[in-house]
Amino acid sequence: MQAKEIGNRGVMFTFEPQECPIGGSTVYLINGKNTIYLCDTHLGSASTDPILAYIQEKGWQEKDVVIFFSHSDWDHIWGAGTFPGATIVSHRQCRQRIVQRGMLELLRYGEHRQGDVKLRLPSVTFQTSIIFEEDQVEFFHAPGHTPDSACCRDYQDNVIFVGDLVERPAPTVSWHDVESFIETLETLKTMGAQAYVSSHSGLVEPDDLSHNIAFLHQYLETLSRPPRSPQEEIRQKEYTLLMFEDAIRQAQGEKFDYSAFQQELWQGLDCDYRLTLTELLNSVEHEELKTALESFLVQY
Ligand SMILES: [Zn+2]
Repeated sequence: MQAKEIGNRGVMFTFEPQECPIGGSTVYLINGKNTIYLCDTHLGSASTDPILAYIQEKGWQEKDVVIFFSHSDWDHIWGAGTFPGATIVSHRQCRQRIVQRGMLELLRYGEHRQGDVKLRLPSVTFQTSIIFEEDQVEFFHAPGHTPDSACCRDYQDNVIFVGDLVERPAPTVSWHDVESFIETLETLKTMGAQAYVSSHSGLVEPDDLSHNIAFLHQYLETLSRPPRSPQEEIRQKEYTLLMFEDAIRQAQGEKFDYSAFQQELWQGLDCDYRLTLTELLNSVEHEELKTALESFLVQY
């Protein structure tokens, strides 16, 4: 792990691809007056213990710790156990998603854990945004990569931590509403930050945001016609799945159970639901998937 100071009070902790099985990742820290803000926590105690050691080395251990989850994906939330006294802040949907899918993701992706993992739920949530006035630090909803995605804006240093919303060369689409994703990236661009920090691409530029926007327009275009490559086919399958998941969630409302949904869906296709999504999608035909999802919808 490398620590790199940016601005007057930011530190980027970067895990190199060789140290972490899922590729490079960055966790961002803001050293406030009486509070340390930690944006995401990576894969477990082995990821966050060195960050705690860094805080102690700097003599910041008396400060309160606020952990911000940029969204509920497992590779952002597993290290929170290292800071038992921290206040965890996220978008409301992020908390709901951890409740719904946290245990399943731990099962499905558990081989990637680094050290101990203790799932922790956010205790403070926001709908649009929340500002920590003393330090001029804001967390705001930025739907796109997932519906619960959010960013951290440090007004003093003019730095925005964007989580998984911006990536080089292209972001991952894990939510069907690609139009909202594009809108969010356009908004981020107009904010004119001095630096944008991405979870999987480190420091990114406004040009990267523009490239990501262009990619998403092209993504929408490929959905509207027959696939021309295996990658496009996987993309279409994934998109179908995202659409149906949302439809079922809306149909079931409060009763929606993500684990049961996943289990029934993939068992119906004779797949082990604990495989990774790519493995699952690779193993089924598009039509099979559509039929399974349609029959799933009919049940409710
Ligand atoms: Zn993610």
